[in-house]
Amino acid sequence: MSISSAASAGYIVAALLFILSLAGLSKQQTAKRGWVAGVTGMTIALIVTVIAAVHDSAVRGTTVVIILVAVVVGAAIGLWRARIVEMTGMPELIAMLHSFVGLAAVLVGWASYVEVERALSKTYTIIWDGHGPRPTIWTVLHIDAMSAPLLRIHHAEVVIGIFIGAVTFTGSIVANLKLSARIKSAPLVLPGKNLLNAAALVAFVALTIWFVVDPNLLALILVTIVALAFGWHLVASIGGGDMPVVVSMLNSYSGWAAAASGFLLNNDLLIVTGALVGSSGAYLSYIMCQAMNRSFLSVIAGGFGIEAPTGEETDYGEHRELNAEAAADLLASATSVVITPGYGMAVAQAQYPVAELVRTLQARGIEVKFGIHPVAGRLPGHMNVLLAEAKVPYDIVLEMDEINDDLASTDVVLVIGANDTVNPAAAEDPTSPIAGMPVLRVWEAKDVIVFKRSMATGYAGVQNPLFFRENTQMLFGDAKTKVEDILAALNSRVPA
Ligand code: NDP
Repeated sequence: MSISSAASAGYIVAALLFILSLAGLSKQQTAKRGWVAGVTGMTIALIVTVIAAVHDSAVRGTTVVIILVAVVVGAAIGLWRARIVEMTGMPELIAMLHSFVGLAAVLVGWASYVEVERALSKTYTIIWDGHGPRPTIWTVLHIDAMSAPLLRIHHAEVVIGIFIGAVTFTGSIVANLKLSARIKSAPLVLPGKNLLNAAALVAFVALTIWFVVDPNLLALILVTIVALAFGWHLVASIGGGDMPVVVSMLNSYSGWAAAASGFLLNNDLLIVTGALVGSSGAYLSYIMCQAMNRSFLSVIAGGFGIEAPTGEETDYGEHRELNAEAAADLLASATSVVITPGYGMAVAQAQYPVAELVRTLQARGIEVKFGIHPVAGRLPGHMNVLLAEAKVPYDIVLEMDEINDDLASTDVVLVIGANDTVNPAAAEDPTSPIAGMPVLRVWEAKDVIVFKRSMATGYAGVQNPLFFRENTQMLFGDAKTKVEDILAALNSRVPA
């Protein structure tokens, strides 16, 4: 078997493992198996690529050394980051990784342009006298045999690859800055923002045509600048409440950027993997939009049709407070309790005392369930992961649609570090920036206790009228400490 057919076989195995990985990751019970399949597939892909490069006579020894050094340095940085990252820091890390895929696609596009231009100027040397260094594998495989229409397709691939890569690059940087709260999560509303986006797309089409007809450096520089600005503006224009869709959308873009690089590098595995990531990310964005009652097209078009918030402050009146003792009293006299966790539970790392609280209440004969909003926290499935970590049984963890109708007959709802996902304004105030987003209707319960440290808004930056309702009481402080205080109060008294 030749090296190239062995490499193709290795790539097919890796591609199959990536498909198995996606299938496994779709369910909590099989997620670990899916993860193992993904890591194995990536290891095979890397080994096959390096072996193929070592055996390729057109690849110089120094290039192989550079590849190996890059793999070792990249793996070391990746392992270090993965070890130190907090669960709450995962979304911004993912956004940063997407930006690398985008940057890589831009660099591949540029390198491919330079390569082909250089090779074209040497083609006659190769064809006529057969002397001189063979320029690159790519050139040897393709340029020599490349006809004019093929060359045009290649030029189009270069521009499209650079465009998708640059949009992903700057879009992911903005997402990283928003998710790490280094810039405001509120949408940037430039005058005529939809026109700006449309103009960028028109410029992209015009520049692509220009480059395909007459490949030139200026067109490539312009398309790169337009795409960088477009990516920045696209994500900056999207508000905090829609960030989950943005993250999965950028995930999808990074897949298409990788697929575009695969075409340029003539690497089938990159094309297959990029297409898998691109299509699964697009589908995830679509599901998220449906769950949040958002228009998919509006979000991917940078918040098209979404107006700037009016900035008017509504006076909702006074809020009520209670302490851990009083909260323990309410819980002790309840027969049904629902816990709706949010990002604050992740920040406080309160899942362990929360799991303990569940066991304590169940031991007193109180029915306890969890209500999980699809975008609670900062990652899809964030709350499910935390609760699984604390060994909360799956069967009492219900999704929003499964629990919402039970809330009206619930005695006490504990809102632990959630805010946007329990905001009645989404259901009742059509002028709210989160209007239309389905939320957990916790306010329908008899009593609601909200665990948070202040009256600050949630990620979407919208005030929450729930905090001022008659049946709501605020329990201020770190969620973990407060749950532990309630546990201590409950344990100090004899069960009724
Ligand atoms: P929010 O971000 O709306 O609110 C979290 C609340 O937790 C804050 O109001 C904060 O209030 C409180 N909090 C923070 N730290 C603590 C602590 N140590 N102890 C107690 N409370 C604390 O959370 P939700 O989960 O309700 O909503 C998620 C939001 O994030 C949505 O807007 C969603 O669109 C967005 N998002 C979700 C993503 C996803 O994939 N799930 C990805 C990106 C964004 P205080 O500071 O007063 O304590």
